[in-house]
Amino acid sequence: MKPVFRIGGDIPLVGCLAFGLIDRGTNLIQVRPSSLCPLSCIFCSTDAGPKSLRRQTEYVVDLEPLLEAFRRLAAFKGGRIEAHIDTVGDPLTYPRIVELVEALSQTPGVSVVSMQSRGYLLTERLAEELSEAGLSRLNLSIDALNSELASKLADTPTYKVERILGVAEHLARNTRTDLLIAPVWVPGLNDGEIPKIIEFALKIGAGKRWPPLGIQRLEIHKRGRKPKGVKAQSWRSFYAELRRLEKAYGVKLVISREDFDIHPRPMLPIPYRIGQRLRVRVVGPGWFKGEALASTLDGQRSLTIVGLREPLPPGLEVHVKILRCKHNILLAEPA
Ligand code: SF4
Repeated sequence: MKPVFRIGGDIPLVGCLAFGLIDRGTNLIQVRPSSLCPLSCIFCSTDAGPKSLRRQTEYVVDLEPLLEAFRRLAAFKGGRIEAHIDTVGDPLTYPRIVELVEALSQTPGVSVVSMQSRGYLLTERLAEELSEAGLSRLNLSIDALNSELASKLADTPTYKVERILGVAEHLARNTRTDLLIAPVWVPGLNDGEIPKIIEFALKIGAGKRWPPLGIQRLEIHKRGRKPKGVKAQSWRSFYAELRRLEKAYGVKLVISREDFDIHPRPMLPIPYRIGQRLRVRVVGPGWFKGEALASTLDGQRSLTIVGLREPLPPGLEVHVKILRCKHNILLAEPA
């Protein structure tokens, strides 16, 4: 397990992919309270979990500053907001997850609170608590019903999919929270499981208000894990397969953001541009090796300094050049 760095109120909560808030110019706000994950899935796009080779730090954000920042952003964006707790790990690692869900659901302007998880830390009791707290939908990733294969895909011997299937059924049948089952399709490894997962989702009554399934295409990321011998499907063949399965099972599988009422909204202004040079303050260790976490001197944005040979001590002020600033996620290199 990597050391955990606590993000308190002195570190801006917009600017870093690994924690805080992300606004991509829609009515959905991504909420990232923790970067931790108990699993080490062989296809993980963020190289999360105990077997991570590239990460050097995990982040956990204090609840109060996260809520304050969320309320400000929600007020800026207007009503019909979806607060989507997604994270670069698993949101259920956040010790105050029930309180977070409750506070988000009570924030003026929020109409939906949703969360992604692989359910390893989910119990029937916790599912009930999350539901009572106001969780509208759980996007639960189950990649195989076959126990051995599921554990192999999660690269975690203690991952027991049959337990998670039981909790999923309890959530779908006995709580007000809707369930969307979101397997990652890993070509050559779980092709035969996808039809079984569709049947399971339909059997337990997933998808009361939203589609029951959100099958995800495997995407290989430069900094993620790549399963040996697996090639990602093209979008074309992925959608062709989904359409074939739609016909076979009479269920909607090709989904779009309209199915979730996600629509464009003004985005937080991006105060920087690529190539701009500025002075920033180092505030903590970087998420991945060779990186540092910094804050702009006005305290408005966090940013990640990449390409470092040596760690930078907190408090140091350095000159950097912005390499990326899309959606206010700022990457910079020493200038
Ligand atoms: S895919 Fe999700 S659950 Fe699996 S290791 Fe990555 S972050 Fe954790």
